[in-house]
Amino acid sequence: KGSIVVVSTGMTLGAHMTPRCRSYIEHADIVIGSNPPLVEQWLESINPNYQSLQGLYAKGKHRADTYREMVDTMMAAVREGKNVVGAFYGHAGVFAWAPHRVVKEARKEGYEAHMEAGVSAEDCLYADMGIDPGRVGSQHFETTQLMKYQRQIDPTAYLILWQVGLAGDTTVKRFSTGEAYRQVLVDLLSEHYPLEHQVAIYECPFTALDDMRIEWMALKNLPSAHVSLISTLVVPPSQKMVKNQTVLDKLAELDLQQE
Ligand code: SAM
Repeated sequence: KGSIVVVSTGMTLGAHMTPRCRSYIEHADIVIGSNPPLVEQWLESINPNYQSLQGLYAKGKHRADTYREMVDTMMAAVREGKNVVGAFYGHAGVFAWAPHRVVKEARKEGYEAHMEAGVSAEDCLYADMGIDPGRVGSQHFETTQLMKYQRQIDPTAYLILWQVGLAGDTTVKRFSTGEAYRQVLVDLLSEHYPLEHQVAIYECPFTALDDMRIEWMALKNLPSAHVSLISTLVVPPSQKMVKNQTVLDKLAELDLQQE
């Protein structure tokens, strides 16, 4: 009668997928997904009915159209009465439109649909870089969104910028932007951080054979750095947290009343 489970395949091939996600893949009528090439081969070995969505990406094509087609492809299989698995790398629901959308649309049409959590680039980043997001807090933004809108950057917390390789791409049609675009990002960030502030480009490996990349540089050197579609920018805090005396006074008063 048709259903869909969106599963997360994790970041590193063969290492991150939960037993539940694997079981859903094994038992699906069809697995439809968007994953790095080796992961796609591996998924095909688990379930031969694997259909890749990677071919929907094209230079000059608006990514919103690509994502819409991904949802339509998965929904068409659900409507045919198949038990569909949507398989997306990392955590399927992190910085990804189509996986959330297909669950929403399938439920609206009365089909069973849910998402299975997984290991995202963010999870690997915390482990590999030794960052606890709870220590001083952590803000995450899609880079171009941060550039396009008036947002509040808190320089006392970590700032993690996703899709830095697409910084400033307002056309939503490119696979990279470039130095001049990253310079605009640096100009914006320099309103909150010194130009000498050390930032890192982080890339976690997709296979056990790939190397991890953690490259530190001064913020001012970001435009000329090598960034790709898998780069994430990590900006550590540049300032110390300032006490909120008004709240502290209120709490002290409450404590006195409790005694
Ligand atoms: N769903 C994915 C996840 O759970 O991590 C994220 C998908 S999002 C469309 C793509 C962005 O994720 C990249 O631009 C980059 O910021 C980050 N990313 C993807 N692969 C990465 C990797 N191997 N290392 C670090 N960041 C990565």
